[in-house]
Amino acid sequence: MLESKEIIKSAKKNDLVFSHLLKMGHEQVVFFNDSDTNLKAIIAIHNTALGPSLGGCRMWNYKTDVDALNDVLRLSRGMSLKASISGLNLGGGKAVIMGDSSKDKTEDLLKKFGKFIDGLNGRYITAEDVGMTTQDMDIVSTQTKYVTGISREKGGSGDPSPVTAFGVYMGMKAAAKFKWGNDSLQGKKVVIQGVGKVGETLVSYLAKDQANIFVNDINKVNLSRVIEKYGVASIESKDIQLAQADIYAPCALGASLDSEFISLCNYSIIAGAANNQLANEQIHAKMLLERDIVYAPDFLINAGGLINVYSELNSLTRDEVYKKTEDIYNITLKILTEAQRRGITPNLAALEIANKRLQSKIIL
Ligand code: NAD
Repeated sequence: MLESKEIIKSAKKNDLVFSHLLKMGHEQVVFFNDSDTNLKAIIAIHNTALGPSLGGCRMWNYKTDVDALNDVLRLSRGMSLKASISGLNLGGGKAVIMGDSSKDKTEDLLKKFGKFIDGLNGRYITAEDVGMTTQDMDIVSTQTKYVTGISREKGGSGDPSPVTAFGVYMGMKAAAKFKWGNDSLQGKKVVIQGVGKVGETLVSYLAKDQANIFVNDINKVNLSRVIEKYGVASIESKDIQLAQADIYAPCALGASLDSEFISLCNYSIIAGAANNQLANEQIHAKMLLERDIVYAPDFLINAGGLINVYSELNSLTRDEVYKKTEDIYNITLKILTEAQRRGITPNLAALEIANKRLQSKIIL
């Protein structure tokens, strides 16, 4: 997979798009621009072998267009892998909107985004991601039927984040079982970076289990809310890397696991919700293995939200959604065990399973 530096390098060589679309295997990338609403969006459709591409829309204040493109390419590929490994008949896609969601997000902008999606005739179905909410999806749904994650009042499945958090919790417990022979998280010291929609629910599960929880967030409102509600401790950003703790759960943005972090951290397990946690998939998965840190692949354990929005397209009941998400425990344990047996990284073991289904186009 190409990293941002490589993308910038190819951009300088005037080879910005096709060289890495080819390497990452994308089918289509669409740029939307609307000067009336100041909408600048990119939709990346990675792979539709298993069904229409589905993935959330992220609104973020990207520094450059290249950063936004890099993010949407990486995220959409992750959605193909996630759908595949979770046994869903969906392809992988993702959207990014450039802008600050707290200032630049307007009803008109969301409606225009919905209109653009509608023009893709169902090749891409959107949902919420960072910077987007269920209410935003309700607005998008006034312009297109190709949207999921709409509110329950409007007939949708509501916010997918609690289901995502449940899946991450299942993945974390499976990693604990693999590492310590027991999946109890009681007394385990867990550091959570990012206590937004997913992170907060994860805290609630861990608090019930009487884990020893430390939270971190750059958003002071979210941070104080979670500290007060669950009586947990906070940890400064600068202290996350060297914390003497058992488990690290990255639940903010991706690429937090880089060479510097991995070489110095003391965690036994890394299991979190953020997409694309490994700054470089091959190098950093290998480093984690060499340091004997159990890594639960992100695209495997954060699939609960996708399973939840999939229920809107396939009329799964709430119980069925949670049952399917609970399976993340068994799949994670199986992958960790298999990876150990073969001496490969869990990320590679998970990738092999996901890619095999994508290549053979197995519709379930
Ligand atoms: P969110 O926007 O509700 O929460 C993210 C939180 O992380 C915010 O509180 C934000 O302030 C904080 N944050 C951002 N950068 C940070 C940093 N550098 N240090 C500390 N905190 C930081 O998003 P969410 O829906 O909870 O999603 C969290 C992650 O999980 C994202 O990477 C998202 O792509 C991924 N994910 C979410 C879902 C879902 O169902 N919501 C599904 C799969 C994956």
